[in-house]
Amino acid sequence: MAREVIQIFADAGIAAEWTELTRDALASPDDAIPVVVVLTTARPERWGLAPNTLGAVMGRGGPVRCVYVFHEEVVRTLQLPRRRSSGDFHSLGRAIGRVAAHEIVHALTPDRPHSRVGLMKEELDRQALSAVDRPSPPLSGGELMEAWSASTGTRR
Ligand SMILES: [Zn+2]
Repeated sequence: MAREVIQIFADAGIAAEWTELTRDALASPDDAIPVVVVLTTARPERWGLAPNTLGAVMGRGGPVRCVYVFHEEVVRTLQLPRRRSSGDFHSLGRAIGRVAAHEIVHALTPDRPHSRVGLMKEELDRQALSAVDRPSPPLSGGELMEAWSASTGTRR
């Protein structure tokens, strides 16, 4: 999961660092934007979301953004067998990373619409989650910082 997220953003020239959640990790340096990623077994419909929701951003605004990835929905979308091989677990990690990256982009650029292709397609289907080729970079580092500054009213 972490590797996929880091690679997707690296393709766009954005350095993503993945750390365990600690109080110190949230006190990020000035040149970093903290995003908390939560992998949950909760059902999205219990949170008032559509049953096939793969991920969501909660609590828009604020200095720390939080994104959720719904594990069971990712498993269902991938149509993984009940008995999973190590290859299936690899696919699952990659798919979770893609959903996390999609939601991270939403968290950092809340005004940006979905795209027709690539990582920011509105509906990430089995093909998008499992394709060997990584989805196209969603935006450049410059666009990311610009959108982040606009959404927080800060200048970075
Ligand atoms: Zn989306």
